[in-house]
Amino acid sequence: MGIENKSPETTMGRRGFLKGAALAGAAAVAAAAMPGCSSPKSQSQSAEATQASTHPSGYMCSEDWLGEAPAIDESKISDVVKADVVVCGSGHSGTQAALAAAEEGASVVVLEARNVDSDTGYLHYYGQEFGHFNSQWLINQGYGPYDTGEIVTEFCRRGGNRVSPAIIRAFVDNCGEAFDHFIGLIPSDNHMLEMGPKGELGLHIAYGRNPEDYPIEMGGYKTWVGDAMFWGKYSDEPVNGVGAMSNISEAESFQVAEAERLGAKWYYGTTAVVCTQNSDGDVTGVIAKADDGSYIKFEAAKGVILATGDMGQNGEMIWNLITEVPEWCERQGVEAGSVTAMTMNDGSGLKMGCWAGGYIEPGPRPTMSMGGGGGGPWGTAPFLWVNAEGKRYMNEAVTVGAFSATLRQPIGTIATITDSKWLTTVQRASIDHGAPNYTRPQYYDDLVTDMSTVVAAGAQGGLVRTCTIAERMQSTVYGADDLETALKYAGYEGDALKEALATVARYNELCYAGSDADFGKDAEVMIPIDEPPFYVAPSSNSGKGVAGLVTLAGLMTDENLNVIRPDYTRIKGLYAVGNCLGQRFGNAYSTPTAGVSIGMAMTHGRVCGKTVANL
Ligand SMILES: Cc1cc2nc3c(=O)[nH]c(=O)nc-3n(C[C@H](O)[C@H](O)[C@H](O)COP(=O)(O)OP(=O)(O)OC[C@H]3O[C@@H](n4cnc5c(N)ncnc54)[C@H](O)[C@@H]3O)c2cc1C
Repeated sequence: MGIENKSPETTMGRRGFLKGAALAGAAAVAAAAMPGCSSPKSQSQSAEATQASTHPSGYMCSEDWLGEAPAIDESKISDVVKADVVVCGSGHSGTQAALAAAEEGASVVVLEARNVDSDTGYLHYYGQEFGHFNSQWLINQGYGPYDTGEIVTEFCRRGGNRVSPAIIRAFVDNCGEAFDHFIGLIPSDNHMLEMGPKGELGLHIAYGRNPEDYPIEMGGYKTWVGDAMFWGKYSDEPVNGVGAMSNISEAESFQVAEAERLGAKWYYGTTAVVCTQNSDGDVTGVIAKADDGSYIKFEAAKGVILATGDMGQNGEMIWNLITEVPEWCERQGVEAGSVTAMTMNDGSGLKMGCWAGGYIEPGPRPTMSMGGGGGGPWGTAPFLWVNAEGKRYMNEAVTVGAFSATLRQPIGTIATITDSKWLTTVQRASIDHGAPNYTRPQYYDDLVTDMSTVVAAGAQGGLVRTCTIAERMQSTVYGADDLETALKYAGYEGDALKEALATVARYNELCYAGSDADFGKDAEVMIPIDEPPFYVAPSSNSGKGVAGLVTLAGLMTDENLNVIRPDYTRIKGLYAVGNCLGQRFGNAYSTPTAGVSIGMAMTHGRVCGKTVANL
């Protein structure tokens, strides 16, 4: 007999599709009866097109990125493992889910597709930060306790209210405890916990502000201190890659060790394939494939937690679901399906959730894109930004809008323009994701050192080490004693050059008047560009086929992270955390402190592990 993995979504999906096609046909007929609407010919064409479509019901896309749930015959199962809680994926969210469930006394198994790194003996984890609020660690440093309701509201506003306030709240209310618990498992004399100017554990703060100055309000958005950074070793030399020096994987190894001590069992090289369900549609376990090709059935007495991360390497899913980035890319000639994010995850947990009857949150579905806006080693600091035509196009202090506003400009250069007073803007920036970061003051000194070489570098431009979370990466800045030459070095010529010069003149008028009547940027960062040397740092808004670091669209759940069906009934036994969890970011990755992607993954993982263990 075959394994019981009845999938309501696949049958429901087809039924839903037929129903959807019928509705589309009815709408076309109704439209034809109205003056000025489509002709009978176009009406029948559109009905045919709808019927030919094979997209999963409820998603406005053209391809069947979901497919059928794999049917795995019982005879192929080589082993059956029983546990209270089955966690799929051992990234930041899954590790915390497993640990929390084990701490609550549940028996736990973790299925992880990858194997541990042979050099370190533990898994590699992405990134370096744990963004959170109100931990004792923060409070001891003078940051907080902050008003949690105000922070929840700020998250919702930044997410265009396309988020679940309850899911945000589950993060904001529990992240402080989650962080204290996380570092509490690292021996107190460990090198990773060393703070100070060159210590390995940093805290993202703004230059020259006191703890009571937070939240900083800039561009109409608030930021609080909360981004703990597992930077790793201090380096004078340039470092390539976001989080390239990070020691967060080592920090995670202590979490795994504690969970194992409490009895949790990790199955490495074991890929979760499909959920098993009973005749009511409740999830009863998971079938996974081991590296040797054998299948193992994991039975979950209490629940399955999907923690397999995003769809970063699944070009088909990204093309069909994360529509904003592929739309821009396709217009620039990027091949369909070739847009990916930076992780190795393939969206398999998201598909498992859909096959079990769940669905992915509606669009526009977010990705984690770094900032946007003009170039330079100072990230999203609120300098003057101009587009390829030399025109200013937004309030540069609205970091939340930088990515989308920049995409809407003519394709080409997006440049930061500044002058000898550039450091003042860096110092006055807020601490949004991608903003300057005063964690290691030496980095600001190095910025000054590197900037001092830029003018002499002439048309070549100077390489300047960054002062953002992307520590020690380098950025090209052009400098000259007159603005026109600096703009020419950065590639501006002809009408664009004239326009850029006129834009700076207008910007200076606004600065002298003390009010940005054009776009409303905060007066404190309206600093005239009128003292040599002048600097121009170009970047580009052209589509490169990259959907950011990770995709952030996840499954719809209730406030307890229990996956729901389209009719809001709960799928008993199925939970989602990390980038499998939807309704966290809404339109885009914009958060009131940096590092929240990992912060949420860990916190929701911990909350969910406790919940499922106590069912
Ligand atoms: C280069 C880079 C730098 C980043 N830096 C930061 C940062 O500093 N701060 C921040 O907040 N965010 C950062 N991010 C984003 C952040 O790392 C992710 O959002 C976070 O890792 C999400 O956690 P997760 O548990 O959902 O997924 P992941 O951490 O990606 O873990 C998913 C795990 O599931 C496993 N898996 C996948 N499919 C299966 C399957 N079918 N069966 C079994 N196992 C499976 C994977 O191997 C992986 O171990 C960064 C991302 C990248 C790529």
